[in-house]
Amino acid sequence: MHQDFANNGMNYHESELRPVSAFISGLFFTGPSSTTTFLYEFFWWMHILLIFGFLNYLPYSKHLHILSSIPNVFLANLDPVRNTIKKLNLDDENADTFGVADIDQFSWKQILDGYSCTECGRCTSVCPANTVGKSLSPRDLIVDIRKRTLEKAPLLVEGKTESELFEKTLVHNYITDMQLWECTTCMACVQECPVMIEHVDSIVDMRRNLVLTESEFPAGLNPVFKSLETNFSPWAFNPADRAEWAEGMNIKSMAEDKDGEILFWVGCAGSFDDRYKKVSKAFATIMQKAGVNFRILGTEEKCNGDTARRLGNEYLAQMMMQENVETLNNYGVKKIVTACPHCFHSLKNEYPQFGGNFEVKHHTQFIEELLAGGKIQMKKESEKHKVTYHDSCYLGRYNDVYDSPRKSLSSVAGLDLVEMERNKSKGFCCGAGGGRMFLEDEEGGRINEERAKEALSTNVDTIASACPFCMTMMTDGVKHFSHSDGFPEKTEEVTVKDIAEIILENIN
Ligand code: SF4
Ligand code: SF4
Repeated sequence: MHQDFANNGMNYHESELRPVSAFISGLFFTGPSSTTTFLYEFFWWMHILLIFGFLNYLPYSKHLHILSSIPNVFLANLDPVRNTIKKLNLDDENADTFGVADIDQFSWKQILDGYSCTECGRCTSVCPANTVGKSLSPRDLIVDIRKRTLEKAPLLVEGKTESELFEKTLVHNYITDMQLWECTTCMACVQECPVMIEHVDSIVDMRRNLVLTESEFPAGLNPVFKSLETNFSPWAFNPADRAEWAEGMNIKSMAEDKDGEILFWVGCAGSFDDRYKKVSKAFATIMQKAGVNFRILGTEEKCNGDTARRLGNEYLAQMMMQENVETLNNYGVKKIVTACPHCFHSLKNEYPQFGGNFEVKHHTQFIEELLAGGKIQMKKESEKHKVTYHDSCYLGRYNDVYDSPRKSLSSVAGLDLVEMERNKSKGFCCGAGGGRMFLEDEEGGRINEERAKEALSTNVDTIASACPFCMTMMTDGVKHFSHSDGFPEKTEEVTVKDIAEIILENIN
């Protein structure tokens, strides 16, 4: 009865239902029934032995991810804001080291990450450092964590302390310092990983060990750390000149009058970098035209701490973050707008760790709101331009801000917005994040040149960006090609502009 129902009331011959297995089994039914019974039992036991054998081999093989990836995905960080660096307890009097030098200093989740890697290589295929020929491979890094754990963990469990394995450490002997310093913290690897492994957390933890415990970092970072400590910016500019860019613009600081509706957080590049000072001016002018009652901190503003933090110098980062929070809270600041995605991410998502809770907007979001609210009016006719937009990782992948810059650009009459092949969440890093802005390339190619090449291949006359680091990297990248043989001469005419500059040129 049941059989008939399953067969929809029809009767099928075995060969119709399972033609291949019916054919193969037919081959074994040629001998006496005792042979058939023997073969049946032989294959049955072979099958069982193979399954049990594989289950025993599983914990020692790369196939362990079949089991470990399930809890790894279940226990993954589901916070919609990705890569908020965890606060390091620097006041722990019992701590004689900081950061991670070896597997026993990782959290259980970071070890589980190692066991969960399927070695699919999706992370490495999108890694900008690896793409341009550097030795950093996020997959190999995670596999090295697993390899080291499989070697060292049994000794730790047995309580053994005498072994040549203890003469090695994960950092230096398995993962080189150079690989750790090559990461731009772009988050492409984390985004692509099918089992939700968080590579960047582990990389920053290992950098923390190099900087805070071993004082082993590239020589080029010495002036950066020194400057952050004494000038509160990565560059050796006089902190007293922080508000010079605003001279003659009739912009008030909080110290002069704290009665503003929003604070414009200018950032170090916006305050000191000659190119980005123009962006600060452009955005301030847009706000003035829109009648926004904004203030700046002026000389009271300090670096937001992102660069120091991602470079592993948690001590410096926390110092600046705490001081900034104190200043902002003293003035009762509630709303902040900034033209720097690194300041944006840090103020919005990491300052709550230090008691700073603010409503933070990136200037592209703010401009979009001004346009939507009719506070600024676009010209009816504008010069024709073909533009491509380069996504900043800290704005896009970190904070899902993809539409605001594009909507602002689309509001410009005569602007033809074309996308690069790698755009939005698949966007390719400019190469400056994670403190790479201040480091030399010791091997492989340059990430910014790879990205500039992609931008130039769209045949645009303007590359739009929304980040001071991206602007520097893309400008340098474009220059490289304008001087190289084989690239169209007109690349010399391609300009890199911030969205605020493009909007200011096109409003009434
Ligand atoms: S964060 Fe970016 S640069 Fe760093 S390992 Fe991942 S993909 Fe590579
Ligand atoms: S994408 Fe994830 S699972 Fe695949 S190799 Fe990279 S870390 Fe391993």
